[in-house]
Amino acid sequence: MYFDFLFWYVLVSVFVFGAVCGSFLNCVIWRAYVNESAATGRSYCPKCRHRLAARDLVPLVSFFSLGGRCRYCKKPISWQYPLIEALTGVAFAAAAWQFVPGVFTGLFPALALAKLFIYWGIISTLIVIFVADLRWYFIPDGAVISGLFFAAALHAQQMAEAWTIIHRVETDILVNAALSAVLAGSFFLAIYMFSRGTWMGFGDVKYALFMGWLLGFPDVAVGLFLAFFFGAIIGLGLVAGQRKKMSSQVPFGPFLVCGTAAALFFAGPIIDWYWSISIGPNF
Ligand SMILES: [Zn+2]
Repeated sequence: MYFDFLFWYVLVSVFVFGAVCGSFLNCVIWRAYVNESAATGRSYCPKCRHRLAARDLVPLVSFFSLGGRCRYCKKPISWQYPLIEALTGVAFAAAAWQFVPGVFTGLFPALALAKLFIYWGIISTLIVIFVADLRWYFIPDGAVISGLFFAAALHAQQMAEAWTIIHRVETDILVNAALSAVLAGSFFLAIYMFSRGTWMGFGDVKYALFMGWLLGFPDVAVGLFLAFFFGAIIGLGLVAGQRKKMSSQVPFGPFLVCGTAAALFFAGPIIDWYWSISIGPNF
């Protein structure tokens, strides 16, 4: 009972912390778009450039208490802001749901805590890329570079975890990730060159490299399959619904991000399910 209360208390606190981080990510996305450093300068309204005070920056609360309008110029604030704050809060809490029990009851609480922090970093990277590519058709290099860094931290954590069990440095993890990065990156580079940049942008090639390095094989295959599958369904849906022409630009980054997130959390169960239907119950 005590543990239940503590668990929910942690989850709610993590949601609030995630919403604050989401507010920062909104700022990072905007500054990547206008090519400003995210580290310097105060936050400002993108419409009237009025400096924002602390009371304008409370995640979710500010947006709804202001009725979705800037306090100074009264112009509408994009729905992106509260949506990303809520999404980051939920995604951070989902990672905590998965890893916090290990922090409290596992044999190696520091390793479980490290994994949680690394997942938060990866989630933040994915959210920035998702929004930037969906709204402005670009994948920020800074996001890809920080993604490579968080993935490297994840491999270090996985190797430390393996060491606690087998007392051996498991370099296979790095070899697998590096090979998967080269293969996924080359596959996208081939598509990019073959289509002369009309099917994929070069940002997608860099993203595929990151995706391979993060997920390794076979998880990267699951993530890519899901990205192409949902990309095809939604792309055809937009054409059929006359929202887009066949030739018009539909960014692929958001699908890659969704495939990556699905593989990151669910690759194991998806692969088990695939074998169960392809081999059948008699195996
Ligand atoms: Zn304003």
